[in-house]
Amino acid sequence: MTAFPQHNASAAEWSDWRWQMRHRVHDLATLERYIHPTEGERAAIAATEGLFRWTITPYYASLMDAIDPTCPVRQHVVPQHAEVEPDIVGVVDPLDEVGHSPVKNLVHNYPDKVAFCVTSECAVYCRYCLCKRMVGDADFMMRKDELREALAYLRATPAIRDVLLTGGDPLVFSDANLDWLLSELRAIPHVEVVRLGSRLPVVNPFRITDALCEVLRTHHPVWLNTHFNHPKELTPEAAEACARLADAGVPLGNQSVLLRGINDDVATMRALCEGLVAMRVRPYYLYQAQLIGGTAHLRTPIETGLSLMRELRGHTSGFAVPAYILDTPDGKVPLTRDYVLGRAGDHVVMETTRGTVWAEPNPLPEGYEAPVHLLAIALPADAKTIPTRAPTFVPVPDGYAAVE
Ligand code: SF4
Repeated sequence: MTAFPQHNASAAEWSDWRWQMRHRVHDLATLERYIHPTEGERAAIAATEGLFRWTITPYYASLMDAIDPTCPVRQHVVPQHAEVEPDIVGVVDPLDEVGHSPVKNLVHNYPDKVAFCVTSECAVYCRYCLCKRMVGDADFMMRKDELREALAYLRATPAIRDVLLTGGDPLVFSDANLDWLLSELRAIPHVEVVRLGSRLPVVNPFRITDALCEVLRTHHPVWLNTHFNHPKELTPEAAEACARLADAGVPLGNQSVLLRGINDDVATMRALCEGLVAMRVRPYYLYQAQLIGGTAHLRTPIETGLSLMRELRGHTSGFAVPAYILDTPDGKVPLTRDYVLGRAGDHVVMETTRGTVWAEPNPLPEGYEAPVHLLAIALPADAKTIPTRAPTFVPVPDGYAAVE
């Protein structure tokens, strides 16, 4: 009897991050060793083929409830039929990352910082992913000469002081490649800080080896933001990975996405944030889910997020409360009274930190009872937005004009 019978793996194999990557689950027969897929999930696996890849590390698959299709871990990674149902947008680039990329995969949307998408590969493919247009797509993989071209741009742009390595997931790089990349960045005098955005501590925590920590330690200051969304992901293995990083002097933050039916209630979000703090990970951002086609079933009304934040603030440690954020082509907007101007039918209107007005398509589901009410306003003529298919601009419901 092996320690991990679904994959006939020994404990040593199971805890080897490369073994986890090599044995990822991406076919129905292997998936059936972990869960009993519903008819809907089986149909979704067939229907999403060619649209958006699915793959799951054995470790993350082992966290799924075998029976319950509403299991939050399962909903993260197993295709759902709702992904192919009509949505108000297609698979788009809602942050206009392509328009902000002076060279391949280098998004320069703030004067002093860039997001450097060094690979398009991830350990799992989250069904709501903001980068759905590129992750898992070989066209977005970075060859060494393309990485060098991006490095040349960074060298030639002295205003950039903060570089986020993202993807895909930069920790799928080998230690040697990561060491090379970090050395190149460290050799640029104006790059003060390097950040990594990685979901590997969550979905393949064995990646956080002593050897990796040693690489990171030699290139400080290196920060890491990870991406836990649900308390079920806060396992002893994940806690050990975070402890290793913290012990290596890497400041840790967490960026969650607010997901309907997964973490959009206060008990779940509080357990997540308090659990993260106990693991020395600071809850940093709670993102409003972006408008990516095929994710309507996971998006929440912004009123849900605002209400959740009200219930967290003052009811737990201040540093356990993340900032609720919407990312827009004009930068991140804190979803607070200072920036949110009101609701214009299907759009929530806000001022960005650049002084522009953004109207986020955010229709209220039928029968939804808003827990907080936004000021009902007309859509400003100068508002920027993402074009959507119907329904848009539905009339403000009766009795929906109270000021929050
Ligand atoms: S790990 Fe991050 S980039 Fe990769 S699929 Fe998930 S959300 Fe997207």
